[in-house]
Amino acid sequence: MTHYSALTLIRKALGGNQGWTRAWRNAESKPGYDVVIVGGGGHGLATAYYLAKEHGVTSVAVIEKGYVGGGNTGRNTTIIRSNYMIDGNTRFYEKSLQLWEGMSLDLNFNVMLSQRGQLNLCHSPAQMDAAARRGNIMRLNDIDAELLTREEVQRKVPILDFSEHARFPIFGALFQQRAGTARHDAVAWAYARAADRLGVDIIQGCEVKGFLRDGGRIVGVETTRGLVRAQKVGLAVAGHTSHLARMAGLRLPVESHVLQAFVTEPVKPVLDSVVSFGAAHFYVSQDDKGGLVMGSDLENYNSYGQRGDLPVIEETMADVKALIPLASRLRIVRQWSGIVDMTMDGSPIICKSPIDGLYIDGGWNYGGFKATPAAGWCFAHTLANDEPHELNSRFTLDRFRRGYQMDEKGMGPTPWAH
Ligand SMILES: Cc1cc2nc3c(=O)[nH]c(=O)nc-3n(C[C@H](O)[C@H](O)[C@H](O)COP(=O)(O)OP(=O)(O)OC[C@H]3O[C@@H](n4cnc5c(N)ncnc54)[C@H](O)[C@@H]3O)c2cc1C
Repeated sequence: MTHYSALTLIRKALGGNQGWTRAWRNAESKPGYDVVIVGGGGHGLATAYYLAKEHGVTSVAVIEKGYVGGGNTGRNTTIIRSNYMIDGNTRFYEKSLQLWEGMSLDLNFNVMLSQRGQLNLCHSPAQMDAAARRGNIMRLNDIDAELLTREEVQRKVPILDFSEHARFPIFGALFQQRAGTARHDAVAWAYARAADRLGVDIIQGCEVKGFLRDGGRIVGVETTRGLVRAQKVGLAVAGHTSHLARMAGLRLPVESHVLQAFVTEPVKPVLDSVVSFGAAHFYVSQDDKGGLVMGSDLENYNSYGQRGDLPVIEETMADVKALIPLASRLRIVRQWSGIVDMTMDGSPIICKSPIDGLYIDGGWNYGGFKATPAAGWCFAHTLANDEPHELNSRFTLDRFRRGYQMDEKGMGPTPWAH
């Protein structure tokens, strides 16, 4: 890593920021690679990094139609947690959280992991029972979890409405201290730089428009900059998973929807943990500049248009005001959206596809940011070994055919989700 003295930083800033060393090469494509990853978001870049680092596969290209981190990786509300409950999810998401905990050191890049804790609020005795069950299962899997009483929640997050006439009375919460947030685009940059150093070519501004075939096998991609051959092609294209798979002749049980997020004007520190609302659907944290960052529900229609509509904003703001009265005096200064790929059970897909040479990482619904390191780690294992790691062995495509769905509350469109 290049180190700059304070004086150099000031000189560069005053000199119009000329002459910085590139963090990663702007690679031109070679004619062929062992592995081509489509999609330069966190997942694609992490996959490339772990392919090189863990499996010695360095003939790898990441092909990105826009710029690194310009997709959902740079658009999410940055929440990281491992409070999952069903087999197949618990250990996978815990592995991810552990990788997050070592990431800045491993990649030599500060991804600003903030383990400020996350509360899933409960608004009824039944929700407290469900939270206790989830928490117990987490603890049995060595994942930290605490069931908080109403008084404990009030001490932690006094800005919530604890009055007698609160529209959503708070009974308690399930709390995970190791959960929190990370700087989203730093994650993409960190993996990009580390993968580049190991020889991976990152090719930006290059769209995959089709696939090369040899009989039934995929042997490369057709791009806006020409053909690129590959022994294996991995898709990590988030909201465009079904679109790309369709080009390869595969129909996936995936729908693309718009998911919005919002940020308020900055205020002094009022919220030092992440809060997920348990009655309807929104989640909120305070960013480093002081804005309250919030996300909520999907637009219910299918779309590739990266913009949301007013009704979701209105509904979310009504809930936010009901739960956090001081928010009624804040202005929303920015709103943005991403396209999320929703599977029918809310769980992801990381597997070899039925088409030889084609592998899929997708179907991340609301929650693929937290999965970035483990998804990359498992996808790299699957690509390198032609079989899943135990951690992603349940994230198959054929579970939909066999009826073995992984329908966990908290993954798909439910009050626990994000
Ligand atoms: C508003 C919002 C809030 C969210 N909040 C959270 C949260 O708090 N916590 C959480 O865990 N998750 C959250 N998510 C989900 C999370 O952001 C995603 O699941 C995750 O970032 C997906 O990462 P990725 O690398 O797969 O996708 P992306 O970062 O989207 O990368 C995919 C890349 O593929 C590229 N691509 C697409 N088609 C092609 C093509 N034909 N050729 C070449 N490149 C192509 C795209 O340009 C894109 O850069 C949120 C999502 C949204 C939209």
